[in-house]
Amino acid sequence: MAEVERHSYDVIVIGAGGAGLRAAIEARSQGMRTAIICKSLFGKAHTVMAEGGIAAAMGNVNSKDNWQVHFRDTMRGGKFMNSWRMAELHAMEAPQRVWELETYGALFDRTKDGRISQRNFGGHEYPRLAHVGDRTGLELIRTLQQKIVSLQQEDERESGDAESRLKVFAELTITKLTMDGERISGAFGYWRESGRFVVFDAPAVIIATGGIGKSFKVTSNSWEYTGDGHALAMRAGATLVNMEFVQFHPTGMVWPLSVRGILVTEGVRGDGGVLRNSDGKRFMFEYVADMFRAETAESEEEADKWYDDHTAGRRPPELLPRDEVARSINSEVKAGRGSPHGGVFLDIASRRTAEDIRKRLPSMYHQFMELAGVDITREAMEVGPTCHYIMGGVQVEPDTAATAVPGLFAAGEVAGGMHGSNRLGGNSLSDLLVFGRRAGLGAADYVEGLSGGNTAMDATLVQEYIDEALEPFSRDEGENPYDLQYELQEMMQANVGIIRTQSELDYALEKLDEFKERAGRLAIKGGRVYNPGWNLATDLPSMLTVSTCVAQGARDRKESRGGQTREDFPKADPEFGKINFVQRQPAGGSFADEIKISPEPLPEMPEELMAIFEEANK
Ligand SMILES: Cc1cc2nc3c(=O)[nH]c(=O)nc-3n(C[C@H](O)[C@H](O)[C@H](O)COP(=O)(O)OP(=O)(O)OC[C@H]3O[C@@H](n4cnc5c(N)ncnc54)[C@H](O)[C@@H]3O)c2cc1C
Repeated sequence: MAEVERHSYDVIVIGAGGAGLRAAIEARSQGMRTAIICKSLFGKAHTVMAEGGIAAAMGNVNSKDNWQVHFRDTMRGGKFMNSWRMAELHAMEAPQRVWELETYGALFDRTKDGRISQRNFGGHEYPRLAHVGDRTGLELIRTLQQKIVSLQQEDERESGDAESRLKVFAELTITKLTMDGERISGAFGYWRESGRFVVFDAPAVIIATGGIGKSFKVTSNSWEYTGDGHALAMRAGATLVNMEFVQFHPTGMVWPLSVRGILVTEGVRGDGGVLRNSDGKRFMFEYVADMFRAETAESEEEADKWYDDHTAGRRPPELLPRDEVARSINSEVKAGRGSPHGGVFLDIASRRTAEDIRKRLPSMYHQFMELAGVDITREAMEVGPTCHYIMGGVQVEPDTAATAVPGLFAAGEVAGGMHGSNRLGGNSLSDLLVFGRRAGLGAADYVEGLSGGNTAMDATLVQEYIDEALEPFSRDEGENPYDLQYELQEMMQANVGIIRTQSELDYALEKLDEFKERAGRLAIKGGRVYNPGWNLATDLPSMLTVSTCVAQGARDRKESRGGQTREDFPKADPEFGKINFVQRQPAGGSFADEIKISPEPLPEMPEELMAIFEEANK
């Protein structure tokens, strides 16, 4: 047997983004011996890229804001497909999680009177996003890492070993979850640098692996977003929910090529940037849906007043929820009024001084200047929809983040339910903190309640996993993983992208079956040390699994709602508004096993929460 490294913990957390780090802090604080595992370098999780801010109804800039309004905005943004309980917990607890970050050392931008500043974002009725310029994710990760170091210092003082209760395993990819009967017992993976295999025995596993965007050609997501956690959880017997709902952020750069897909934060529109078509027209006024008409400005004059004084006019239509703006851009491009490279123009240069832009949006300015030579203080950007976020994910019990598999928990982007059919900007960072903490607590409670020890992973099973992982090296001829990845991304973008139709979805599912069959014949040259081809080969099964889930859900949801737009069913259908689609695979099977999809009725919202909407409609 190839040499295997073994570890044993109470709780392992797969993922070191905001959700994983907050979960690990909680599990360790509850006395659990906790491991954090991540496939990129520690500190480089996708969360670090988050720009605009963390949504939390602290009411610092507008005292009318409160958790009820945040809850209402979140449910409306998600077109009422959200788990109401998750949305409720999120809205209630987000302010505490932001204030807590300050106690960990976060330095947010301030209001003139010294409180945490909050900015406007699409779909949020009041200024609600706590931020650090446009580098909020970096501050969040930095602060959580700092807290981890301080906990490790405590442990060192107590036991002489800083890693005795909290240890980070960076650049290690988990490829399997293991079971003891029906419950979780650990995980198996490999060091990316050496290729050496690693076994973790643990009675509780928290999945915090982020999203799936790398299955699409144009995406704002980083290389890590291959849907591993979604696929691992489903193969262990957990269910996935709402997978058809993929958010295409309206403003990804479409040109120059060096920055294609990269996000232009919604903060640009929150700070006065406007969308124009090739005729120079501010077209968003033409696309205001009835649901948002009452609170949206009708003219440029009214909208412009709002930026300086929110009581002087209604909100500009550029700040409608992301799905609305993305679809509108798509329509303009389709109607032949797009920019030269297939997007529209986002103009802040003509509306704010260069100094103002550099001060409020420093990362945007530097990033596009350095990577593409585009000076956003002088020229409009060419932008269009880019695959950004998946609302769907592992189905969890809202209060504990527990999945259907005993011992398995999920939090962050990998978990489903919180955002319904569409996520509001800023609601992810708060989601990570609220449900990361709850997952850490849930896992600790679960472990405390267990009687008897955890079963160590069986040597025969470990050998089986190793043989499977090494199989592509045994073939002289076979499929190249890069070719397969390229074809998958092209196919998903073309057929399961922002606008979908029956025939294209049927075709996509046929192609996915073919890709799965080809993925069983991958051939890799060289050895396990520093071999990105092999690393990709281990990611591809997850990419194919999540792509199939998205395509299946999109095929069966014969309506348009939130992150799902069907050209052949352009309207929301009230009957589909009553159900979520849930997907499952046989536990312990292969990635290529059939994925079953079934409708599940949405849980009914209690009367006191319904009253929040009735109050607003008066
Ligand atoms: C450019 C950009 C800007 C954004 N701006 C905002 C914003 O302003 N506000 C907001 O609320 N949201 C924003 N978002 C969305 C938000 O950043 C993400 O949804 C969020 O950071 C996801 O956090 P997470 O903890 O779930 O996962 P991540 O931060 O992605 O972390 C996932 C972790 O899992 C690890 N991992 C994955 N697979 C494996 C495996 N098989 N084995 C081991 N480790 C694994 C990764 O290495 C990583 O450590 C933005 C997104 C982008 C792309």
